[in-house]
Amino acid sequence: MFMLKDLFTNVKHVVFSLLFPENCRGCGKADVLLCEECLALVPENHENPYKNVWSIFPYENRLIRKSIQDLKFKNRKEFAAPLGAALYEYLIDLLADENLFSGNCGKVTWLIVPVPLSKERLKTRGYNQAGLIGQSIVDKDKSDIFIMDNSVLYKRHETVSQVEIKDRKRRLENLKGLFAVRNAQLIHKAHIIVLDDVVTTGATMREAMKTLRSAGARKVIGLSVAH
Ligand SMILES: [Zn+2]
Repeated sequence: MFMLKDLFTNVKHVVFSLLFPENCRGCGKADVLLCEECLALVPENHENPYKNVWSIFPYENRLIRKSIQDLKFKNRKEFAAPLGAALYEYLIDLLADENLFSGNCGKVTWLIVPVPLSKERLKTRGYNQAGLIGQSIVDKDKSDIFIMDNSVLYKRHETVSQVEIKDRKRRLENLKGLFAVRNAQLIHKAHIIVLDDVVTTGATMREAMKTLRSAGARKVIGLSVAH
């Protein structure tokens, strides 16, 4: 029965996206690709996948997976707004729960650092999807809690896809020295949220976080839309 329901939901999503490409992929509502109501129905992950890394939604969820894939590979930048809005709400709760809002000296500003693409990838895609999601978090934020910087962390070279390397040790070697920091004064003692669309093995995220910590950040957490 459950399988049938799943199948029905999948077919519904496909039909909506084919017939109404500008409508919500979940319910067909007009003028929004992913509506708040449909996002609210997606079950959230209960646990953080890695230490100091949080991830809201399960990547197996078709609506989430398709939204991220379209944002990334089909130039559907509009998906960044609803995903960023969901992350904003999530972050507000998270920072309150974890008591991460205030430091020793009052209000903390969090610097969002999107996981960078290589120069080549950025050129072919034309945008960094994590940067678009980050911008949408900043746009939602009326209390100046979040700011974003797209350039402080950069990727030195393209890597072999992490998923293709089965051996854990080789995966980690593949990432060593992958990221570097420019204008380190921007992150000196900063509170940083490293942001990505998807965290899979977590190795890329951890490498980015490590690079920022070594460059002088005070507190670094990781965040992604899906895991
Ligand atoms: Zn909807």
